Amino acid sequence: MSDFHYSTDADGIATISWDIAGKSMNVLSMEGLAELEAHIDTALGDGAVKGVIITSGKPDFAGGMDLNVIAKMKDMAGDQPEKGLFDGIMSMHRCLRKIERAGMDPKTLKGGKPVVAALPGTALGIGLEIPLACHRIIAADNPKAKIGLPEIMVGIFPGAGGTTRLSRKLGAMGAAPFLLEGKLSEPKKAKSAGIIDEVVPGAELLARAKEWVLGAKDADLVKPWDAKGYKMPGGAPYHPAGFMTFVGASAMINGKTQGVYPAAKALLSAVYEGAMVPFDVALKIEARWFVNVLMNPSSSAMIRSLFINKEALEKGANRPEVADERVRKLGVLGAGMMGAGIAYVAANAGIEVVLIDADQAAAERGKGYSEGLLDKGMKRGKVTEAKKAEVLGRITPTTDYAALSGCDLVVEAVFEDPKVKAEVTAKAEAAIPETAIFATNTSTLPISDLAKASSRPEQFIGIHFFSPVDKMLLVEIIRGRETGDRAVAKALDFVRQIRKTPIVVNDARFFYANRCIIPYINEGMRMVREGVAPALVENAAKLMGMPLGPLQLVDETSLDLGAKIAKATRAAMGEAYADGDVDEVVFWMVEEGRLGRKTKAGFYAYDEAGKRQGLWTGLGEKFAPASDQPDLIEVQHRLMFAQALEAVRALEEGVLTDIREGDVGAILGWGFAPWSGGPFSWLDMLGAPFAVAVCEDLEARFGTRFKAPALLQEMAQSGRSFYASRASMAA
Ligand code: NAD
Repeated sequence: MSDFHYSTDADGIATISWDIAGKSMNVLSMEGLAELEAHIDTALGDGAVKGVIITSGKPDFAGGMDLNVIAKMKDMAGDQPEKGLFDGIMSMHRCLRKIERAGMDPKTLKGGKPVVAALPGTALGIGLEIPLACHRIIAADNPKAKIGLPEIMVGIFPGAGGTTRLSRKLGAMGAAPFLLEGKLSEPKKAKSAGIIDEVVPGAELLARAKEWVLGAKDADLVKPWDAKGYKMPGGAPYHPAGFMTFVGASAMINGKTQGVYPAAKALLSAVYEGAMVPFDVALKIEARWFVNVLMNPSSSAMIRSLFINKEALEKGANRPEVADERVRKLGVLGAGMMGAGIAYVAANAGIEVVLIDADQAAAERGKGYSEGLLDKGMKRGKVTEAKKAEVLGRITPTTDYAALSGCDLVVEAVFEDPKVKAEVTAKAEAAIPETAIFATNTSTLPISDLAKASSRPEQFIGIHFFSPVDKMLLVEIIRGRETGDRAVAKALDFVRQIRKTPIVVNDARFFYANRCIIPYINEGMRMVREGVAPALVENAAKLMGMPLGPLQLVDETSLDLGAKIAKATRAAMGEAYADGDVDEVVFWMVEEGRLGRKTKAGFYAYDEAGKRQGLWTGLGEKFAPASDQPDLIEVQHRLMFAQALEAVRALEEGVLTDIREGDVGAILGWGFAPWSGGPFSWLDMLGAPFAVAVCEDLEARFGTRFKAPALLQEMAQSGRSFYASRASMAA
């Protein structure tokens, strides 16, 4: 089967069209690369061919490298994975360099054949690295197309020459947002940034590409870096301006990544070292750094969780085999913060929404939230007036439950009060079709208890969104005791429609995400009470790659919510409740009126505008820091194991049924150190024997909450890992 199709026309133009059968998006495999190279050889060797167009037979050019291949490449490389990877990468460079040199005489730089990339739509990763090796990049004027190098987002960097070419094309500073942040642009913006050369109407794309090829002169084929006297735009490292760029970039990367993301640092090293040597040597340096990153366990864990498994879950890896359950008409009960957000994401995905609240003004306010977000989008040029009208036109705000008639899904987001929830469940069920599914967005109440208010408990489910709904990527779907497969399928199809990532968990206190965040927050507050310096707690978390320290996280979610949850948990658990020492801190803060960001006073101090200043000094007066402070690693272990052990317990108890969901959910739900790939990947990285040894030490000094779960102990004894066990079970 071929991925690239080769044809020639009467004017001597060879067209290589990328069009993988049976896939909606082209992705590059090693076989595909070999085919591309063979076609390039044919074109360069054929005297009748004057030039080459590389394009796609699909609406888009390519989505990137098949990352499954990168993961496999390493496994297949036997005893010397580094060598296998390096050779594989160098074969990519050879092919792309062949395109770039296009048969020209290396001394005179004459006699090459023009190669143009004609991009009908999206061109990402290797899908842009191939065009960057061509002599000209022409894109169709397709505002939906995305052009860029997003590799850094999954823990690697553009390793097929994209790093070296883009930094030489735009200069280190100009290339930084695209390389270091994975910024994607639509074609016109990519042109103004200098990434591509030309944007033309889609219908003229191939004709324009051909015209360019036929008119190209020898000089048009020589890349700046192959021409004599090339100087890097903005200056190479030892140029005064370049020096400033590289010093600044180095500090910025360390600041942003806290040193835990190996790819960003490796990328900068490749650019820095590469800038001081000839281009072909720079490619070799890039390849060496790329191998370095691919050999780092963090990169494989990130690729596995953030790309492979995230996509598998989005495509319904754990969806019951039930017919299509896509939502046509959605009812949302409660137009507060969550309900308004749910209505917005659904309407934005093309779903009709009935938005109900207790009074009309509240329902209208809920719809107004969508209007606000759409207005913001318009200001940023992302939303048109027509799109805004279309989305708003789909939301009907009302108090009338009869309007729910015809809804195939209802999501309830009223007050967190079982009585209120029971009342709206009964009212809605009287109005919706018998086949409709009813979901609750509760964050703390057991689904199986709430289902008692339903006359159709098998059609009752939890769909737990995170706040703010429009930004948070994860949705937790909770099966109650009686929830049936069709309800799960409906929830999964809905989440897919609104383009978020689902995990499916079983019903237990706090489900999965909140269950793991609470011990993290509590451990932070507990340490403050013990006299650990608050700055040490916060910085230890950030240096582990947590986006927010535990104290900042409490400020964001609010201390009164913490107090409310603590009271309810204590009431439910009775004697078994083990967080009394933490409550001392929480309740004292609440008494002081320091409820967090919303009151502009919490563990942190805030200015009048609500901007966070520094840690609140009053904290140290109440809980004086001890003269003897623990070392950083100990604080980090306490914070990380508090979360990871809870994730393992959730797995042991059957709340989680799939470690992939545990890892993806942890990163997207509460920002669990993304570099690690999630708590299960992190424990695998540490190795079960080491993890158990740390648990034993922490348990002896800080209490039974650190006791290694039986599952982890078994693994330590048998020498297995979570992912190896999963693979052997799947085999
Ligand atoms: P909110 O107070 O902002 O909104 C609740 C809305 O429900 C209000 O507009 C209220 O008028 C309306 N309401 C109350 N009783 C009603 C009734 N009988 N009929 C119709 N409407 C009624 O609360 P929220 O933060 O949006 O939370 C809603 C639900 O989502 C709760 O169950 C909460 O636990 C859950 N949740 C909240 C968050 C969060 O971060 N806030 C996150 C996940 C889940």
